[in-house]
Amino acid sequence: MWKRAVCTKDCPDTCGLLVKVENGQIVKVKGDPDHPFTAGFICKKAAHFPEHIHSSKRIITPLKRIGPKGTAKFEPIGWNQALDEVASRMRSVSSEFGSEAILPYSYGGHMGLVHRNAGHAFFNRLGASNLDYTICGPAATAGFEASLGKGPSTEIQAALQSDYIIIWGSNTLTTNLHAWPYFSRAQKAGATLIVIDPYRNRTAQRADVHLMIRPGTDAALALSMMQVIIDKDMMDHDFIAQNTIGFEKLKIRAKEYPPARAADICGVPEEMIVRLAKGYGRAGSPYIRTGWGPARQLKGGMAMRTIALLPALVGAFNKPGGGITRSLGGAPSDLRSLTRSDLRPPGTRTVNMVELGNALTTLTNPPIKMLYVYLSNPAVVAPQSRDVLKGLARE
Ligand code: SF4
Repeated sequence: MWKRAVCTKDCPDTCGLLVKVENGQIVKVKGDPDHPFTAGFICKKAAHFPEHIHSSKRIITPLKRIGPKGTAKFEPIGWNQALDEVASRMRSVSSEFGSEAILPYSYGGHMGLVHRNAGHAFFNRLGASNLDYTICGPAATAGFEASLGKGPSTEIQAALQSDYIIIWGSNTLTTNLHAWPYFSRAQKAGATLIVIDPYRNRTAQRADVHLMIRPGTDAALALSMMQVIIDKDMMDHDFIAQNTIGFEKLKIRAKEYPPARAADICGVPEEMIVRLAKGYGRAGSPYIRTGWGPARQLKGGMAMRTIALLPALVGAFNKPGGGITRSLGGAPSDLRSLTRSDLRPPGTRTVNMVELGNALTTLTNPPIKMLYVYLSNPAVVAPQSRDVLKGLARE
């Protein structure tokens, strides 16, 4: 029997799947051709679901540590015992140190909105330390929204109508395979495809022009593009007058980044920057696809904020096929009734998840006495990994 499903990987494409089930076992997985966006095409990871799900190596019972921390000695226990032990530990930590001594640590796990947010209400009600979810995309989102406000960005399908596509900091061909056909088809139809990325990755190899900028120089490049666009009067004056604020201030800032200066900062020839700016400024439908790359650096939010100003400068939003796409993940949704931050006691301490190492090793009043990890692997993904490992190793 074939059943409809959705891929459970932590991947924003969320492919529609058809799953063949025989005697309670998944025997085959293929793409659902009726899914409007992924249209039956899935990557190899999902095709391996049957062997992963039914693997004898899967952990299917709770495991209790029986040796010192770090020695990886565990024994299987039943679910009731596990739940009782966790609940009793929560109670004892709470009564001895206060509930803020408990820190939940989680992130995505997969793209299901209920699944990834369902734990929040419990920890809010408990009065546990509040985790600030800053890893991954929030810096990019904050920067983007500072320029363009909240709301969905341009649909990726728009790129089909574009004559000038910039993929900025995304290895789309490898990591966002359902978006790639739109760019590839537009390119075949005559669009110029630019890739801005410090790596000569697979996507960059398919570009008409690859600007291999130094990491962390995206904002300088964007400001320099603006300087050329303003200097050559390629702006959309009507769009700027009717839809934007702060243009005069931006003009002053952009003037500080002539192409010669940006070339020094970014490590690409001055002529390339001028050509890029002119190509973008003169395009009939200038389109930008940003990845997460520009935001994964110090002041990354500001880099994304700067890039996100470019479409407004040339009025791209008023041109079919023009615009800017930030993320394909998530749909606008109000999660307040799920996460229930209203249950959190006023004044509850907040811990920034990228500072977990500090929190585990230096926080007092109260110290973290219980770390409750779900949907994440902080030993691998959290920065300051030496401090994180030190913190995880302490009793
Ligand atoms: S691209 Fe692969 S991992 Fe991503 S949702 Fe589709 S099948 Fe899953």
